[in-house]
Amino acid sequence: MAVLWLDEIGADDLESVGGKAASLGELTAAGLPVPPGFVVTAGTYRRFIEETGIDEELFEAVDVDAEDSEALAEAEARAQEIILETEMPEDLREEVLASYEEIGDDEAFVAVRSSATAEDLPDASFAGQQETFLNVTGEDLLARVKRCWASLFTQRATYYRQEQGFAHDTVDIAVVVQQMVEAEKSGVMFTSHPSTGERKVIIEAAWGLGEGVVSGSVTPDNYVIDRGTAAVTDVEVADKKTMYIKDPETGETDERAVPEEKRNEQVVDETEIERLVELGERVEDHYDTPQDVEWAIFEGEVYMLQSRPITTISEDGEGAATADGSGGAVQHAEKDVLLSGLGASPGVASGAVRIVDKLDQLDKVGEGDIIVTEMTTPDMVPAMKRAAGIVTSEGGMTSHAAIVARELGAPAVVGTGGATDTLEDDQVVTLDGDKGTIREGRQAQDETEPVEEVRPQAPVKPMTATEVKVNVSIPEAAERAAATGADGVGLLRIEHMILSTSKTPERYIEDHGERAYVQEIVDGVRGVADEFYPRPVRVRTLDAPTDEFRQLEGGDDEPEEHNPMLGYRGIRRSLDRPEVFKHELEAFRQLFEMGYDNVEIMFPLVNDAEDVLQARSLMAEVGIDPEKRSWGVMVETPAAALGIEEMAEAGIDFASFGTNDLTQYTLAVDRNNGTVADQFDELHPAVLDLIGQTIETCRDHDVSTSICGQAGSRPQMVNHLVNKGATSISANIDAVRDVQHEVKRVEQKLLLDSVR
Ligand code: PEP
Ligand code: MG
Repeated sequence: MAVLWLDEIGADDLESVGGKAASLGELTAAGLPVPPGFVVTAGTYRRFIEETGIDEELFEAVDVDAEDSEALAEAEARAQEIILETEMPEDLREEVLASYEEIGDDEAFVAVRSSATAEDLPDASFAGQQETFLNVTGEDLLARVKRCWASLFTQRATYYRQEQGFAHDTVDIAVVVQQMVEAEKSGVMFTSHPSTGERKVIIEAAWGLGEGVVSGSVTPDNYVIDRGTAAVTDVEVADKKTMYIKDPETGETDERAVPEEKRNEQVVDETEIERLVELGERVEDHYDTPQDVEWAIFEGEVYMLQSRPITTISEDGEGAATADGSGGAVQHAEKDVLLSGLGASPGVASGAVRIVDKLDQLDKVGEGDIIVTEMTTPDMVPAMKRAAGIVTSEGGMTSHAAIVARELGAPAVVGTGGATDTLEDDQVVTLDGDKGTIREGRQAQDETEPVEEVRPQAPVKPMTATEVKVNVSIPEAAERAAATGADGVGLLRIEHMILSTSKTPERYIEDHGERAYVQEIVDGVRGVADEFYPRPVRVRTLDAPTDEFRQLEGGDDEPEEHNPMLGYRGIRRSLDRPEVFKHELEAFRQLFEMGYDNVEIMFPLVNDAEDVLQARSLMAEVGIDPEKRSWGVMVETPAAALGIEEMAEAGIDFASFGTNDLTQYTLAVDRNNGTVADQFDELHPAVLDLIGQTIETCRDHDVSTSICGQAGSRPQMVNHLVNKGATSISANIDAVRDVQHEVKRVEQKLLLDSVR
């Protein structure tokens, strides 16, 4: 049997049909209305390669050096060619086509999707890319099935298997073929309230195919149903301007304007709501956990297209409130505040103080200690990871210590003024990263004021039109960052990847060679790009001030600067040292070649179109096609904000507000100077005005806008950006969920205002 029908399979068939098909099979078996379909099993793929005799040639073609990106690209192309150009054995071909005709007729539209059988392996990319082809019809189906098979040999999949020493012939792939539902209405349904977990069903509904609702490009109607009383308690009818439908001629999905009379019409009626709620409850009962369901209605029938559990993001992870290393045996404590500063990373931590003033003292920081230092540097990250908490004398909310601590989930207090003088080695203290205090002794959480650490987090990601992304500065935080459900990475800083080698880029290249330098960057970015794939990851080229470089090997060659923040950093340093900069760009080129098409390039501290044009031509020089890749700039100086039109004309795809710098340069407040920290106001009208104007200009020029400075995590800034129409917002890991909800709230308010 080349195929199995969805109504014949279940969880036990995982190995032969893959995860996606097995779950559709389960829903079908539970009597839920899943569109009919079948699975071309993993065994069929195997028969195909064995009976046609291509197996040896295929596995030989992909047996290449994983570090050689050219060889990987060639392997992908060759594997595709072998699979696509080999005819399926006649009996397989006939069985697949006969099954297809059973779905409807020989012109039925079907969706074709790969269903990985190795999803439980450590890295899903191991099992190939997840291919989906919609509106497939006729014999084209056979080519699409083969495309799904070939997805086992993308560069990423091959890379992983080679790297980890897994034989290519041990992995199989199944393919689901399912009738397309030509939805007249569609949407999503949460079987329990997504923000509060209450027993309420939430339905979002729009006209046409589901793409609009799922991608967030259409604002749907919103219905709330009390599961206890079955009453519809809230209905918000949206002004639905666009809808997606299938073009009857080409079969392609088309975006159309919603007919005037339907724009403000309620999408689902009472009977349909009742049916959706009934089905939602059955799905939840079946899986015994709240579900997030995609549904569609065609000719009065409701179909379930997909169901996933609603996941609760746990925020009580490593280094949080109980990271005191005491194993819970908390002693009584003196409550007097010894020192205070800015609460830069939330949570409470107790431990022994380790004062660190030179790199060679990092070893003295053990698990559960409290690092106390003037200001952290990238070299300190390994020690910061071991520490239960971090205290610095200098720095503000945008300092290295604050950014890294938040990503590590370690409580931190920064800018205390004199922590290194006031505290002593071995002294046991408790720091509160919410209040910004350091107290004597080891203190239990419940002995302090109520701690906000156990913040109720909404269980699921709300659907928003404005994308909500996350900032990442240390690659090790990628997993935590991805678990937030963010729509991508709005800023990946590469400074840590380079500075953690303890050498300046120039010294590193001198000692280890150019290839090794490029590889450091490729490796660092790849970890994050993988974790998020296919969500976009915006990687910023190097932007470290010379005072950070000076502390490294090779730092003596750095220029001595009176104010490094206004000095030789960002794109100005890169353009002044094109040979070094080109190695960074070469790393991007290699990543693109390896198939990381989710990577985007962002240039820091640009001032004008001249900077942009120079960077663009260096990109082209190393072999990156600026027309094909997504690249853009950070808007961090008033000059950049005021000159955005010329930069748009120079070809940027996006502009991202670096409000840490934009604030310091607009207000002339050094972001690292504690004396003027109270003047550092990211919400100053001048800063907001520059941002507002820039968004408007960008919208006129089809350039997307975002924020990746610390202020993107503040509700007032979120409000300003959504109102001005920013495309996305990138927040700290710990703030993503709150920002998603704030965005949703502001979007809904905008919507209501527009219909009033
Ligand atoms: C910024 O300036 O807002 C920014 C995100 O960049 P950095 O903090 O790395 O200077
Ligand atoms: Mg900056």
